[in-house]
Order: sequence, then C-alpha cells, then structure tokens
Amino acid sequence: MSTGWKPGLPAPTHDDLNSCVQCGLCLPHCPTFRVTGLETSSPRGRIAAMRSVQAGETPVQGDFTRFTDECLACRACESACPSSVPYGRLIEAARIQTEAARPAGQRAVRRAGISGVIGHRRMTRLMGWGLAISQALRIDRLMPRSLRMATPRVTLRGMRTPLPRSSGEGPVAMLLTGCVMDIAFRPTHLATTHALVRGGYTAVVPDGGGCCGALAAHAGEVGSARALARQRIAQMEGAEVIVVDSAGCSAHMRTYGHLLADDPEWSARAQAVAAKVRDAVEIDAPPGRQCDERVAVHDACHHLHAQGIGPEIRRTLRAAGATPVDLGDGGRCCGAGGIYNVLEPGMAATLGEQKARAIIATGTDVVAVANPGCAIQIRNHLQALGSDVDVRHPLEIVD
Ligand code: SF4
Ligand code: SF4
Repeated sequence: MSTGWKPGLPAPTHDDLNSCVQCGLCLPHCPTFRVTGLETSSPRGRIAAMRSVQAGETPVQGDFTRFTDECLACRACESACPSSVPYGRLIEAARIQTEAARPAGQRAVRRAGISGVIGHRRMTRLMGWGLAISQALRIDRLMPRSLRMATPRVTLRGMRTPLPRSSGEGPVAMLLTGCVMDIAFRPTHLATTHALVRGGYTAVVPDGGGCCGALAAHAGEVGSARALARQRIAQMEGAEVIVVDSAGCSAHMRTYGHLLADDPEWSARAQAVAAKVRDAVEIDAPPGRQCDERVAVHDACHHLHAQGIGPEIRRTLRAAGATPVDLGDGGRCCGAGGIYNVLEPGMAATLGEQKARAIIATGTDVVAVANPGCAIQIRNHLQALGSDVDVRHPLEIVD
C-alpha cells in the first residue's frame, strides 16, 4: 500500500501543517471531539494524521480517511486557533486526496450523487419533483430514517413558485439560485429579491440558475467544483453585486479566486467575481414588516467561522423590531455539514438533536437559519422531538 500524498493533486502544504503548534486550545471548540473525546476526532489529531501522511508513514486510506471523513469542515477550530492554522484549507486539500484514493466503485457512486445530480439543474429539478410527489403521497416514510433526516421538505407549490426575472431599480444585484435552494427554499429567494428591491437594487434572477459547486468542493470533487465555478462566473460576472442567500454558497463563492488560481484563463475573472459576492444578510435594506417577537438565532458555521458574519443577522432582526435570542451553545455546528448528514449519519444525528434541544430551550416560536443544509437538519430534528418551532431565513422573517 503506497504512502504519502498522490502527486499531481492539491495536498496539505508543509507550511500549513507546520503552523500547528499542537497546543490543543481548539479541542473544546470541535464538535466531533466533544462527542467522542478522542484525539483522532479533534483538529490536532487530524493535523497529526496529515503530517504522518506527509512524512510518508501513512497511506491515504483506512484510518486516515475515517478521521477526515468524520470532520464537519465547520472550521470552529480555525476561529479558536491562536496560531491562525488555516484548517479549512488543510481539510479541503486532504479531502481531494482521500476522494482520489477511494475504491473506483465508491467514487463513482459519490460522483453520481454530487456531480451528476446536484451539479445539473435539470437533474436537481427532477429530484425536487420526485421528493415533492413522494412527500405529498407520504411514501418518503419508506426511506431509511438517516436519509429522511437529511432530506429537505419539498412541496409541489414550492416547486412551481415563480421567481421574478427582474424587479426594482438601481445597480444590478444578481441572485444565486443554487441547487437545493432552488427546489426547497424558493420563499427565501423571493424574500431576498424583495429585500434587494427595498435596498435600491435591480434584483435579477439569472436564466438557468445553477449550483455554485460548494457541495462538490466540500466532498473533495475538485474537478466538478471548478467546472461549476466557471459556469457561475460566466453567468454572473456582469452584475454589480452577486447576492447569495445560503451561507455555505456565499462562503464558497468567496473562494473562487483560490479555487481557480492556477488557471490562467479564469483566475482574474474568478477573483473579480469573488469580490462581488455579498451574503444576503449583508445587504443594507429596510425591513418589509415589523415583527415584535423573540427569534432564536442559529449561526451557520459558514457564516460564523468562514465569513465572520453574525452581527448582521441580529441587526436585520432588530431593525424589524424583533428580539434575537442566542442559543447559548457557543455556535456549535448542527451536524449538517454539506452532505455530512448523509455520509456520517450517526455523528450528524447526535449534533442535530443537541441543536434542536438548544433551540427548544429558548422558548421561541421561530428560529432564524441562513443556510439550507442547517435548515433541513434543524427542521427535521425539531420535528423528530415533536417541536413546531418554525425554521426561517432571517430575510423571510422580516419580509
Ligand atoms: S490547530 Fe491551532 S489551536 Fe489547534 S492544536 Fe494546532 S495550533 Fe493549537
Ligand atoms: S472543522 Fe469542525 S469538526 Fe473539523 S476539526 Fe475543526 S472544529 Fe472539528
């Protein structure tokens, strides 16, 4: 069995790995370490495993794959690290390596799901109709529980909800419609277009929509992630602002420059597009309604740790008269993690239930969630606990 990184593919760099001084200060912030208490489930342990591969002592298989697969890529460790270890960059590169080292059959199944369905709008829409019909007929109950807990609620009405191609006046703000957002969160898209119009923009929904590639990048499918990034760049680069109402997608699109840095034809265009990206909660717009209610706030990891976004959500809610309520769990990950809840259902279920209980403990009727993966995970776990707390994007709450 060969050891070391596979040549010709991105890999964790020597400098990034050596920036970890093994102090362990990140450990209490890591959700997987908190659940298992094992060093191998911690950021320090995972970095040590990467160093072992780097030194040629370990293959990119077996235990190494298990340790990296179990990581949520939530980057809570990165926020906590006093040595500024770029853990997000490390795990992303390690995932490209583990993906390439999987048995061909396993790789084909993962690629079919991530690139073949999520990366193609027609296939995503087809999947959406399938989910909407099976949920309307309640035959989705035949799915294994772990898969059902990771599945969005899709309605026939939601699938048919039209999005205005262009509305308002002012600088052009183009909305990323995305993949899962496009089938399960159209009310969020509508609320975002309303906020853009109130904020003095022309809200434009591009023809054909499409995925930003975040899920592919998260799973180590770098070829698909780059192809999707090029599609979105070509489609959206003419806009003055690119607005994204999914925390995972805005975080990912901000890395387009890095993703295509070695592509001479695309790197400058990628950097220009990344600079235009605004998360929807960063748009300065007056609220569409006043809502005098307490609203629990779940901070998505891709907001809190990847983009430093958090106060913006609370400011948006306060401007509408609402009272934001923190969950008191230190912003711990909900366990969704892209498609983590499909691939690692056990850990995801533990974290999802913890998050749902923290929300219920606030005694609020609604929770603001600005990321589709988190919204699906949290809604399903709230329901499993018999709670009817409503899960909404903050812009929907104030629309
Ligand atoms: S990642 Fe940072 S906080 Fe964690 S052990 Fe390494 S240096 Fe310490
Ligand atoms: S990214 Fe999240 S799960 Fe992974 S090591 Fe860091 S804190 Fe732990």
